[in-house]
Amino acid sequence: MRLILLGPPGAGKGTAAEILKKELGILHISTGDMLREQVKAGSALGLEAKKYMDTGKLVPDDVVIGMVSEKVEGLKETESFALDGFPRTKVQAQSLDQILKELRRPIDRVLYFDTSTPVIIKRLSGRRVCKQCGLNYHIHNMPPKKPGVCDQCGGALYQRADDSEATVQTRLNAYREQTAELIDYYQLKGSLRKIPGDYQARQLFEYLKDLFSKEGLS
Ligand code: AMP
Repeated sequence: MRLILLGPPGAGKGTAAEILKKELGILHISTGDMLREQVKAGSALGLEAKKYMDTGKLVPDDVVIGMVSEKVEGLKETESFALDGFPRTKVQAQSLDQILKELRRPIDRVLYFDTSTPVIIKRLSGRRVCKQCGLNYHIHNMPPKKPGVCDQCGGALYQRADDSEATVQTRLNAYREQTAELIDYYQLKGSLRKIPGDYQARQLFEYLKDLFSKEGLS
């Protein structure tokens, strides 16, 4: 199964991808996580990307497209994956079409997370991330067993700098201006499915399982 998870920041894409990985073994490919790893490693790509990420702007298309094409081309033909946070512009969507066409591995479904603004704001302000393994938590919806400590690896949890109120507004604007048009792009292709983004993790997984089985994807 090859999926794209589409929606604004805080829509629940990352949480859904983690559940799909745990329950169905679908590989989670998050461009945000890949970029944060590059920043942490202090690579040239990371240093370039950081300038945009810190202010909530999109990293230039060629940087992200190069990173994703390398990743996707390195996968086994049979590997299921969910792209989280990519594509975010029409140029990225068209490049992805081209890459997957050459590999003869088309996207099966685009899941569009339709999430209300108050839920988005609440999710982003309460989000905490493990410094070590990158796993996401929420102080109310998905708290770790021990406050401030990752259940999975024991790493320290922190709040992403770009989850601050001011940067969140810039990120939401970037979504409206550069990404939202992809809803129509995939709707026209017939692969878009609207997902209730306000659902909590478990409820969401039950919904997705049902959808996949109805559409013969499981
Ligand atoms: P995310 O973790 O998906 O919220 O991404 C964090 C930040 O990484 C975004 O605000 C962008 O600056 C950058 N980023 C992630 N994915 C992309 C993408 N597909 N295109 C451009 N910038 C991206």
